[in-house]
Amino acid sequence: MKILVVNCGSSSVKYTLFEMETEKKIAWGIVECIGLAEAYYKRQSIGREEKKDSVKAADHTQAVELVIKELLDKENGSIQNIDEISVVGHRIVHGGDKFSKSVLVDKDVKAGLRECFSIAPLHTPAHYAGIEAVEKMLSGIPSVLVFDTAFHQTMPDYAYMYAIPYEYYEKDHIRRYGFHGTSHNYVSQRAAQMLGKPLNELKIITAHLGNGSSITAVENGKVIDTSMGFTPLQGVVMGTRCGDIDPAIIPYLIDVYPEYKDGNALNILMNKKSGLMGVSGLSGDMRTIVKAVAAGNKRAKLAFDMLCYSVKKYISAYFGVLNGIDALVFTAGIGENSPTVRERICANLSALGIEMDNVKNAEPSGEERVVSTPVSKVKIMIIPTNEELMIAREAKKILTNE
Ligand code: ADP
Repeated sequence: MKILVVNCGSSSVKYTLFEMETEKKIAWGIVECIGLAEAYYKRQSIGREEKKDSVKAADHTQAVELVIKELLDKENGSIQNIDEISVVGHRIVHGGDKFSKSVLVDKDVKAGLRECFSIAPLHTPAHYAGIEAVEKMLSGIPSVLVFDTAFHQTMPDYAYMYAIPYEYYEKDHIRRYGFHGTSHNYVSQRAAQMLGKPLNELKIITAHLGNGSSITAVENGKVIDTSMGFTPLQGVVMGTRCGDIDPAIIPYLIDVYPEYKDGNALNILMNKKSGLMGVSGLSGDMRTIVKAVAAGNKRAKLAFDMLCYSVKKYISAYFGVLNGIDALVFTAGIGENSPTVRERICANLSALGIEMDNVKNAEPSGEERVVSTPVSKVKIMIIPTNEELMIAREAKKILTNE
């Protein structure tokens, strides 16, 4: 069985074609800069060199057309007929409180998704365009939607509610939703497999640390709390996002700076100009920050310290929420690749039974591994995330009614 996973961002279409018997990737790629003159298509398939071309992709429909044509290409393609694709899995960033699990696309589901436009205006219209483009190009092939928010729908009300007047929850659906759910779900399942124990007997904290980062408390396979909120802005300090701040800073900025009367300017300030970027004045990229810290840059050090401290605080809080944990899992760009960040976060947590083996932690490896000491009560694990595979598995599960 072959499954195509599609991830339509605001100006890109990313895809992976899986052979599900082996769960291996057969072909993958990205159409970037959709709608712009500099649009390009980068793709690769098993046993072939990577190719990159400038392309004309005025919208998501044209981008999806390019992808399907390439997959069917006589010389370089990976399939001979579209019927070889059993189902298409779409990554959807925000399912609001409408979607608590993956669903097969039909008219009602599409109508429900349209109602989510206002809650994630950058992402959902792009996802929708991608779904329609796939329907057009792969007529008759079912599509399944897999939501980043779905895994978090098990949170209790006292964890997902904000203490503002209740009517804003009722009218505007303002509550914590949480994001990166597909990643937190994948790594918690892998952690259980690596520990050789059923997921429903484990307490795990998963730290997805990338450009955007979130920490999640998972008990018996169910999310109890997560650091991102109504939007992916809340929580720990991130690459260019501020994470938790005193909400009263917002009306203060509006009062003092006329340019912030426009809500969009404030959104840009908090989403694109804050975090590592805002504090260091240098970059939102952790690799640059780590190098600058080593070179003695004080503001880079402050930004680094703040990010690690904010993650440590969430881990400690969720340790209490879960009354202890079996495993702490690091994943995503920073979590998988930065021993310096992992070491700093785990330093001085021995009171919680979290003890890192700093030598193992520093060993370069792209593999799943345990980096805690033998006496550490909590297993510290590094697990490369695989959101695409998780989406493919979900799509298969929905298709086959497993
Ligand atoms: P996204 O949230 O966009 O999916 P990623 O999960 O790819 O992002 O993470 C990107 C982050 O990972 C960047 O801050 C990048 O600097 C960081 N990163 C990647 N490799 C390393 C590394 N070797 N050391 C430190 N940080 C790294």
